[in-house]
Amino acid sequence: MSAAPTTTSRNERQPIHDNNGNGRVVVVGAGPAGLASAAELVRRGIRATVLEQATEVGWSWRGRYDGLRLNSSRPFSKLPGARFRRGTGIFPSRDEMVGYLEEYAVRHQLEVRLGTRLERIDRGHGGWLLRTSSGEISAGQVIVASGYAHTPFLPDWPGRDRFKGQLLHSAAYRNAQSLGQGDLMVVGAGCSGMEIANELARNGARRVRLSVRTPPNMLVRSPIGPLFARAILKLPPAKGDRLINAIRRKEIGDLTEYGLPEPEEGVFSRLKRLGVAPAIVDKETIQAIKDRRIEIVAGVESFDRTAVKLVDGTRIEADAVVAATGYRCGLEPIVGHLGALDQRGVPRARHGEAAAPGLRFIGFVPRPAQLGYIGGEAKRAATAIAEEMSG
Ligand SMILES: Cc1cc2nc3c(=O)[nH]c(=O)nc-3n(C[C@H](O)[C@H](O)[C@H](O)COP(=O)(O)OP(=O)(O)OC[C@H]3O[C@@H](n4cnc5c(N)ncnc54)[C@H](O)[C@@H]3O)c2cc1C
Repeated sequence: MSAAPTTTSRNERQPIHDNNGNGRVVVVGAGPAGLASAAELVRRGIRATVLEQATEVGWSWRGRYDGLRLNSSRPFSKLPGARFRRGTGIFPSRDEMVGYLEEYAVRHQLEVRLGTRLERIDRGHGGWLLRTSSGEISAGQVIVASGYAHTPFLPDWPGRDRFKGQLLHSAAYRNAQSLGQGDLMVVGAGCSGMEIANELARNGARRVRLSVRTPPNMLVRSPIGPLFARAILKLPPAKGDRLINAIRRKEIGDLTEYGLPEPEEGVFSRLKRLGVAPAIVDKETIQAIKDRRIEIVAGVESFDRTAVKLVDGTRIEADAVVAATGYRCGLEPIVGHLGALDQRGVPRARHGEAAAPGLRFIGFVPRPAQLGYIGGEAKRAATAIAEEMSG
């Protein structure tokens, strides 16, 4: 990269304190949602300060596994106002995504305060008071974009701590080589779980089991998949479910005999009820299931010293277990006391609407091709803030 983003490092920064900052706009998080929000504000002539707890922008992407490719294609994964670099693959890699985010911050000359963690938001005089790891900041407008996939969630399985094999969350998984070629298990059949299971099988593991509690809705990764999903989202969920199930039967076939029956609740009904997006999978992964190089087994009940016990009573010896068991938003300490969250800890206000005057959340609506969707949310929020500030 030729130029650095307008970032401020922990050492060179002055302590933040502003008792009269009600005109200030603060964005929390320098991931795709925070960067897009700040860029959309700049486009409307509003300067925003982005607070980022990590030492670099796009932190969550830097930590993802080596083989990760976006499951949404390039045109549906870009943020407003910038395409991916020429030569980027149709499903950009992790490193291409990190490079894109770095360039995005530079291109829009975003002011990012690195190494600054937001700890809590309270109502201030005519605005908001933000407690951060570097002091307090007052702001008239706040956009929280700290990530839906914020805190890795590892179920509290009985016996978990006694297990002598390796047990790690998918957020800590890097590559198949690091787990060896023994008996391996992946828990959870979302996008990451399916992809990691396939990587392990490809790397020549003796056995790969995929533990599944609830059969997932599945879609095959396709460059135009997000286009379909967006169109179908406009239909009533039941109708959308029927359409997607028909596509699934044609592209994937019936996986019942392998342990993955078609779920009773379809893609859009589940998305609406639980905020669970479907698993986007490659045909290669489906083939590995059909070849039984990935064996589907029941959900996990508990662990003992050397094995995993499943809910159907089976006991499986395993050298390593990757828990692709999802994330939590981790917003309770920050805004839990403001009544802005639902019972799952997800912001109630969606699509860039205000949760309270001057307080918005971006990036908390799970969608297929969420990156593209985030751009729309950022635009709506920036437009509303510009109107409020001018009027
Ligand atoms: C493994 C995985 C793969 C995915 N693949 C795709 C895909 O292919 N296509 C797609 O469209 N979507 C995908 N998503 C979903 C989603 O698009 C991404 O998670 C995306 O990064 C969300 O952007 P975000 O900015 O909301 O959150 P994040 O990327 O998580 O960024 C949040 C930022 O906020 C910072 N932060 C958090 N808390 C604080 C705090 N208290 N103070 C200061 N800073 C804070 C974090 O350090 C981070 O930099 C994927 C998600 C995961 C988990």
